[in-house]
Amino acid sequence: MPGPESAPGAAVAAPAAIDAGAAPPARLRPGLLSRGRLRALLARASHTLLPGACVLCGGEAWTGMQTCQQCHAQIFGTARPRCGVCANPLAGQWHAQAPGAPMPASRGGAVCGRCLAHRPAFDATLAAADYAMPQDQLVLQLKFGGRLALAALFGRALADAVQAAPGFERPAVLCPVPLGPQRLAERGFNQALEIARALGRRLDIAVHPRLAARVHDTAAQSLVQPSERRANIAHAFAVADRALVEGRHIGIVDDVMTSGQTLDELAAAFKRHGAARITCLVFARTPPHYS
Ligand SMILES: [Zn+2]
Ligand SMILES: [Zn+2]
Repeated sequence: MPGPESAPGAAVAAPAAIDAGAAPPARLRPGLLSRGRLRALLARASHTLLPGACVLCGGEAWTGMQTCQQCHAQIFGTARPRCGVCANPLAGQWHAQAPGAPMPASRGGAVCGRCLAHRPAFDATLAAADYAMPQDQLVLQLKFGGRLALAALFGRALADAVQAAPGFERPAVLCPVPLGPQRLAERGFNQALEIARALGRRLDIAVHPRLAARVHDTAAQSLVQPSERRANIAHAFAVADRALVEGRHIGIVDDVMTSGQTLDELAAAFKRHGAARITCLVFARTPPHYS
């Protein structure tokens, strides 16, 4: 088994994965786009943006950033209290962020009622943003439009959220949610791996793309009835080498967390192989999802 990536851009193989909820939805969830709008987005995504242009509005980006100040404020301009375990928003005050201030961070101490009742296999989750307009468009452009440069934006946002989170425990290694072989062949890349690479570079944490493998292709979670999602993803992951996992704090990286069941299943696989702690690091969190 290959070791962790040692340098940015190091050749990695197998791509990895995605939340199964990543495939273009046949029946759209609330908040996702219609097929027509998706097509329009993809068409727009195929345009080559000039260097220095905001990825959302095409205006002049902030120096060293991929967004302009206004779009940055729209995406990351408010911090909300979140459950430290699952990153679902908690009731409480929103805090306006000054431009350039750290991204919204999960609060390690507070735990939502749902996690108190049924603690997931992961120990903590950190999300950089809600899965909502306009950043949901960026997620779709990365995933379905192949705009891999957006992974750097997501990785940076996550790194900023990590650095702004009080008492955040840094994982020893990052692992993207792996894709099944068929999904990987169709897409040609795993956006979770691309985000993990960008995040790992910023935080100086090794990325190990093959710490776990998806042993069979599963139906996209978005196409499965909520009541069947747990069964759909059950036993989907295998851990190849217990020695790489045992006693370690593993950070699982993904683009979007919706129900959290994919992350829970992967975290459970790592825990069965002796992982000491699991932290999920997701760019965007779908707001309260109780199905
Ligand atoms: Zn903009
Ligand atoms: Zn929670």
